[in-house]
Amino acid sequence: ADAAISVTDLTVAFERAGKTIRAVNGVSFDVAKGETLVLIGESGSGKSVTLRALMRLHPERQTRQTGSIRINRQDVLKMDRRQLRALRGKKIAMVFQEPLLALDPVYTVGQQMIECIRTHHQISAQQARALAIAALEAVRIPSPERRLAAYPHEMSGGMRQRAMIALALSAQPEVLLADEPTTALDATVQIQVLILMRELQKKLGLAIVFVTHDIGAATEMADRVAVMYGGRIVEEGSIGDILHHAQHPYTLALLKSRRHGMERGKPLDVIRGSPPDLANLPPGCPFAARCDQVMAHCATSVPPTTRISQSHRVQCHLAAA
Ligand code: SF4
Ligand code: MG
Repeated sequence: ADAAISVTDLTVAFERAGKTIRAVNGVSFDVAKGETLVLIGESGSGKSVTLRALMRLHPERQTRQTGSIRINRQDVLKMDRRQLRALRGKKIAMVFQEPLLALDPVYTVGQQMIECIRTHHQISAQQARALAIAALEAVRIPSPERRLAAYPHEMSGGMRQRAMIALALSAQPEVLLADEPTTALDATVQIQVLILMRELQKKLGLAIVFVTHDIGAATEMADRVAVMYGGRIVEEGSIGDILHHAQHPYTLALLKSRRHGMERGKPLDVIRGSPPDLANLPPGCPFAARCDQVMAHCATSVPPTTRISQSHRVQCHLAAA
């Protein structure tokens, strides 16, 4: 099947204050139509940077990007301004963690939705209004006509996030990118929004790339999971591969931290040490300094990618042995 998104050997580096920050270091993945890939990892693992690269949102001047990002067989890294404008919003849309930052406080939800729709479709304001109402209905916002007249601050956090999803979907994209879209919400609302995203995906056949640091959210959303560390995908598999047959010591630590995190309300804290300095990456495995199974050659040689099965691959010297 044709992939909706196909990323090959992507690198993203930022030039800042005379330093080169190597945020993404050779990432490859495909996402099919109707499929959700979850990118999971700690902050600084490269997941958000990867996601933003898919829409080419990084400031061009201080960023170096190599590899290829094909969406509908077109390489995003080679697009000109006009092609990028057509891509953003129309083919591909994004929802962020805090919708208040993305929604403009001085315009009503309706004004913003109608403007967004009309930017991407040549239709009348009235037709756009009808589409906006349909989009709010699709995300189960009650009395959508009345909601169009509301300002963002007049809605609850969960409703705002649903309105953002409606806004993102109102241009009828094929790809949805989501960066921690439910992290700011409380647990029950979080689950409702995730279930809603899944339902919309089924209905619309969306390809979704979903970034999170939370295994619970990953379990709810994922068909496949890519575990990121030090700007690399260190393990990728189906949600079943990752939950039940994880091989990479970092993935295993993540899964363990979840069980602790549930009690402490602070996931990921239980992995000792801190992530590598992206301006000064170690020459070997990026996880070597924190790995409880580290071997002598881990510090000097980057582990190769080993295929465990058709759906499952891992970058660790243990799996290669
Ligand atoms: Fe640990 Fe070595 Fe595997 Fe890296 S390559 S995760 S240091 S065992
Ligand atoms: Mg982030």
